[in-house]
Amino acid sequence: MKLSIRTRLSLVFTGLSAALLILFGWTVYTLMASNLERELREDTQHDLTQVLGEFKKLPWEKFLVELDEESEEFSLTIQVVDNEGRSTYRTTGIAEWDWPVDKNVAARAAKGRIWSDAQIGDQDHLVLSLPLFPPGRPHHILQIANSRADKERILNQLIACVNIGTLIVIAAVAFAGHYFSKHALAPVEDIREAADHITASNLTERLTYDGPPDELMRLTSTLNGLLNRVQEALERLQRFVADASHELRIPLTGLRGTIEIALRRDRSPEEYKQALETALSESEHMSEMVSELLMLARGDAGAEKIEKTTVALRAFMENLTEEANALNAEGRVQIECAPVPDLSALFDEAKIYHALINLLENAIKYNKPGGRVALAVRHESDHITFDVSDTGIGLADADKKRIFERFYRVDRARSRQSGGTGLGLSIASQIARAHGGSLTVESRLGEGSTFRLTIPHIKNV
Ligand code: ADP
Repeated sequence: MKLSIRTRLSLVFTGLSAALLILFGWTVYTLMASNLERELREDTQHDLTQVLGEFKKLPWEKFLVELDEESEEFSLTIQVVDNEGRSTYRTTGIAEWDWPVDKNVAARAAKGRIWSDAQIGDQDHLVLSLPLFPPGRPHHILQIANSRADKERILNQLIACVNIGTLIVIAAVAFAGHYFSKHALAPVEDIREAADHITASNLTERLTYDGPPDELMRLTSTLNGLLNRVQEALERLQRFVADASHELRIPLTGLRGTIEIALRRDRSPEEYKQALETALSESEHMSEMVSELLMLARGDAGAEKIEKTTVALRAFMENLTEEANALNAEGRVQIECAPVPDLSALFDEAKIYHALINLLENAIKYNKPGGRVALAVRHESDHITFDVSDTGIGLADADKKRIFERFYRVDRARSRQSGGTGLGLSIASQIARAHGGSLTVESRLGEGSTFRLTIPHIKNV
């Protein structure tokens, strides 16, 4: 059975209080009982001192008579037993069957003072027994008894008080626990209700809590932080969907326009061929964009697997330089690769290659005729850095911050003209992040840029 937090809190408080009270009651009872027993022994010792005083002063017969008077005056319960175990004196009013001689106790007392218990009449008594040696007579046993009735009454009253007190306190704690836990948990219920009302359509609303800076305040701000992140993610997604639709509409409109114009009247085979070539280039652009979008979406969803293998950097950079030269077939720029360290590193070769090709494409595309593109790789303590530098058009500070956003292009026309989708840097940055690394840029407008892809270097590869 699942209990609510409120019930569990009440039960824990009540159970704990009950256990503490029972422990307290038991301790008080034990202390009280041992104190009362000690007092009873002291009283009995005191009675004995008095009786022994008389014994020392008086001859035996007179002592027995004096015992009777003392018993009466100080309410003592005394018995004297002779060496054969017969009772020779018993306080007046106590019959033989009330306090029969315990031969075993008498025999042990003959060797010295002993304490024992006895039932005298209907009351439990503490009995002190010791040997007396009257001059010229065999030894006798003197027994002084003190009733435990008072002690038991006091203890019974104590038990009753502790029991009633315990019950009252447990009831009070149970009630208070229930009441205060309800009171304490009320803001949690308020927060839950408020959170329940937040949906995608009112995601700008936030939870409020006007209590002290306690756990609930922290819970509220954590939940609000979560809502902020969800809202940002949703807005990013909405922007992305809107941008993607918009970006796809441009080539689609172009494609449609080309076909419509071509069909408007009869045309020569050359004209049809040219229209089809334009349509092909638009559809290629669209298909490139769709596959890049798909890659980004898979990366966002964590579905794009990073398959790390040990890669020899020298061969890797050679391939990269070769492909960069192929991209620069017209020889617009000059491409160079700095000496590569003889090192192997662990990363997803295809993905890092893809990211660096995106950077190289840009470095060629956004360069000035006759400019330079430099490729370099460095190993620094725990990471590996790939630099792609160019002497191209560079970036303004405001653009530097935004170029990693999806579809952001400084010069939309120039990018599209050169076949850009506005997704290359987003993909490269996503690949770097998936490796636990980063992609950054240093750039000066009109002078050129350096894109730096850094990934952790995993040792012993
Ligand atoms: P695109 O397909 O437009 O090249 P990217 O995501 O690769 O998309 O780049 C985004 C924008 O960043 C580009 O449109 C361009 O304006 C700018 N950019 C990228 N690389 C460079 C570079 N090396 N020099 C100057 N601008 C660049």
